[in-house]
Amino acid sequence: MGLECDGVTADVIVVGAGLAGLSAARELEAAGLSCQVLEAQETPGGRVRSSVGENGRPMEDGAQFLNRDMSALVELVHEAGLELVAGGAEGETAGLGSRGFFEADTWLNELSDAWPGLVSSAGLRSGRPDRTVTELIRKVTGDPNGLALMQSSLCELLCHAPSELSAQAVLEIFARYDSQREDGEYQVAGSLDTLVACLAEGLSRAPRYDTAVTRVAEDEKGGFGVITPGGVHRAAGVILAVPPLAAREIELPQPLADELRPALESFVPGAMVKTTLVYRRAFWRQPSGWGRQAPLSEIVCLEPVGTTLMDTTKPGEESARLTLFTGGQRARDLALAGRAERRAYAIEMLAGIFGGDEAGQPLDFADAVWVQHPWCGGGYNAHVRFGGLPDAVERLRQVEGELQFACSEIAERFPGYMEGALGAGKSAAARLIRAL
Ligand SMILES: Cc1cc2nc3c(=O)[nH]c(=O)nc-3n(C[C@H](O)[C@H](O)[C@H](O)COP(=O)(O)OP(=O)(O)OC[C@H]3O[C@@H](n4cnc5c(N)ncnc54)[C@H](O)[C@@H]3O)c2cc1C
Repeated sequence: MGLECDGVTADVIVVGAGLAGLSAARELEAAGLSCQVLEAQETPGGRVRSSVGENGRPMEDGAQFLNRDMSALVELVHEAGLELVAGGAEGETAGLGSRGFFEADTWLNELSDAWPGLVSSAGLRSGRPDRTVTELIRKVTGDPNGLALMQSSLCELLCHAPSELSAQAVLEIFARYDSQREDGEYQVAGSLDTLVACLAEGLSRAPRYDTAVTRVAEDEKGGFGVITPGGVHRAAGVILAVPPLAAREIELPQPLADELRPALESFVPGAMVKTTLVYRRAFWRQPSGWGRQAPLSEIVCLEPVGTTLMDTTKPGEESARLTLFTGGQRARDLALAGRAERRAYAIEMLAGIFGGDEAGQPLDFADAVWVQHPWCGGGYNAHVRFGGLPDAVERLRQVEGELQFACSEIAERFPGYMEGALGAGKSAAARLIRAL
């Protein structure tokens, strides 16, 4: 490559200032390497983004929950001066179908209990052909209600129709959820922006924002030129800490580009709309038709598929919060509507479920659309489509040399979570340090 370097020079350039990129940069600096993070957006954090609602209450647009086994994240929470609080109010999970509420925890537990067996009988190393996630869960239950519940819950969790995703790739991800605890055990008192700032501001060189990388090329000295619209930056090593869907928009050097194309093209974008409504009181905890003593903390709707409602009230809050997670096709439809329409949709849905006027009088409202996000893909994280390479993640994880990948999707532990992103950044930094 004969382009002049008119940008920065560093030992390593990290592309992306999400948790994976920031954690990689911290690790590289700790090893004595100079490091420059380049970020396409105006701010760091990627899929961790704090905001405020229409009436000024703090909200989390992206990631929000964690559990105690997510040790790197818990450590960072404390380092940032934040405290863990309960993930939401305690209670049971209900399914909601055309005949009203039904107890759902039994079905959902049956599904999570089945994963380990399915990993060995149908997973990547089973030697069996791949199938769709829907075909897989038909092995768990033949009950139509149970199946519909599992489909809807997975559509929310995977942010995509389970009938279109690779079962082997999804099983591999679930097998790497290294905990018996719920993922929503805790949230933080305060906002997660503080945690992102703690990582970004701790770096010797401040990340460069509004700096989208379009191409990485090998230069004549055996290093890399990292090309952005504003200039060419040079480094001996590069970490692409961007999700697979963003990585495939970056032109890579040959032969790596050809080698990785089938893996990168195996991922499909997810779709998620996260909507939070704040109310004076939690009117959803004992709705009529919920014939059980224990209050409700979560509802999985069978229609629209991929819709889950969760009580996300923080302890000590004067008001109560309900978060509506809409994944898959319904999220894509909502993304096409304006915010006012989405607000009306959410309120109408709550009024339809719980009756009465309270649903129509939120104290605050926020929604975040993670559909075809130009830099983060869509949904919580990207998944492999059925027909793609079930081992696409492994192929990205096993790239050798001075150009490495890091993103939550390819984490060895807790892929798809903030903890996974931190771990993926750390592992990529370690691989790169060995290679340099
Ligand atoms: C709505 C939602 C809810 C979630 N809830 C939870 C939760 O409760 N708990 C949990 O643990 N996890 C949750 N997650 C998942 C979690 O947010 C992610 O797994 C994690 O933050 C991903 O971090 P990352 O660094 O791998 O990727 P990202 O956060 O996507 O960071 C990638 C960065 O790269 C930048 N970038 C992309 N392309 C380029 C380019 N060409 N040039 C320069 N920069 C580029 C992007 O702008 C972005 O800042 C949620 C995600 C979403 C969207």
